[in-house]
Amino acid sequence: MMKRSIVWFKTDLRVNDNETLSRAVTSSDEVIPVFVLDERLLQEQQFGFKRIGAFRLKFVLESITDLDASLRLRGSGLIFRIGKPEEILPQLATQYGVTKVFGKKEVAIEEKTLQAEVEKALWKQNCVLEEFSTSTLYHALDLPFGIKDIPDVFSSFRKRVEKDAVIRELVGAPEQIKSPNIPKLQLPSLNEMGYMEPVADPRAVLVFRGGETEALKRLEYYFFGNRSLSNYKETRNQLIGADYSSKFSSWLAQGCISPRFIYQQVKLFEEQYRANDSTYWLIFELIWRDYFRFMMKKYGQQLFYFKGFNGQQPPGTSRDSSLLQRWIEGQTGDDFVDANMRELKHTGFMSNRGRQNVASYLIDQLQLDWRLGAAYFEEQLIDYDVSSNWGNWAYLAGVGNDPRGKRVFNTEKQAKDYDTDGAYRKLWLD
Ligand code: FAD
Repeated sequence: MMKRSIVWFKTDLRVNDNETLSRAVTSSDEVIPVFVLDERLLQEQQFGFKRIGAFRLKFVLESITDLDASLRLRGSGLIFRIGKPEEILPQLATQYGVTKVFGKKEVAIEEKTLQAEVEKALWKQNCVLEEFSTSTLYHALDLPFGIKDIPDVFSSFRKRVEKDAVIRELVGAPEQIKSPNIPKLQLPSLNEMGYMEPVADPRAVLVFRGGETEALKRLEYYFFGNRSLSNYKETRNQLIGADYSSKFSSWLAQGCISPRFIYQQVKLFEEQYRANDSTYWLIFELIWRDYFRFMMKKYGQQLFYFKGFNGQQPPGTSRDSSLLQRWIEGQTGDDFVDANMRELKHTGFMSNRGRQNVASYLIDQLQLDWRLGAAYFEEQLIDYDVSSNWGNWAYLAGVGNDPRGKRVFNTEKQAKDYDTDGAYRKLWLD
């Protein structure tokens, strides 16, 4: 009997180094690649904010278009649906006579709950869900400790994995993918989904276009094109322009590129040019990314609690909507905060330096419930990623993990240090 499988694409929109796809291809006669846009993401609110904003939705649609093109080059294509994955996947499984669904393993609570519902619905029709961890640099199974023993302090985590874990080799992209005839991809427009098309702002650090092709182009340019990687450690705290940091985050968040591939390319760069503090520092940041994922795995739902997982009282409980609105609009009266918040509002992006400052300002100066800030970021960021966003916010609110105790950013001093000539504030406030 012919073995047919579904590949359930989520935030792993790539063909390279994608174990889920490769395993499905090698163990099936035919595969049916599927992406389901969960309709609840378009409808639900969280603390008054959408679960996904126009900037990210546009990026996701672009990534889907690119994935479909890559799959077609290999003889397949992508089926796109809007609805509930726990209903659509079983329907498609019946329609195509599928016995197995291959999907990416999740760490966050809502994603895991959905996965369990999909699994249950598939079971009823004798179809199994098999999951693969594909989003971290260090594979979950290769960690030198069990999940509940993962060190809560980042530097202890990093030192142990650097010493005792290896980074796996890349999984090559399948050359051919056998599929039944997959109809031409048809995506709805943002307007049809009830969103306004975002207006491109010429001040944006970069025009972010979704998709694996664009991710690979960006890496090629940032590493080998202008060799910005060599200076990354010195420039990464800057605020203006495309090249002060890698800008990989949006592609990483949708899985258009894998951290292992970035790692492999850093090693290649080091062989061709030379290794220095900067080349190491990019890997160091990818380990931070891993760390927030593993913390999410360890503490689950607690990372979304007001008191996080350490039970500390955050500075403020207020949900004053006018204060919050002034923060969102970049009208707090603090120039540095306002410039950063306007960048986020108009472009869907903000530097790491900016994020730390505006988050600390909301938490420590405005004394608002930190989760309001995290929820606004969730709607607005192109690169929103559940673990990195909620993990960083909890960390800054003092309810996550920071051995030095809660950090308060002095935004005036930070502006002097990082926007010495005021060019960044001028760019966004004038
Ligand atoms: P680079 O400096 O070039 O770093 C390379 C990569 O390392 C990034 O793409 C990212 O994947 C990872 N990385 C770097 N810093 C961090 C960090 N502090 N935590 C986790 N990963 C990191 N990053 C997201 O990807 N999604 C989010 O939703 C997100 N929310 C954040 C919220 C707050 C309050 C703060 C303080 C930080 C948040 N970050 C988030 C982390 C960081 O700000 C961004 O990853 C970074 O600014 C993206 O730019 P880049 O790709 O040029 O980063």
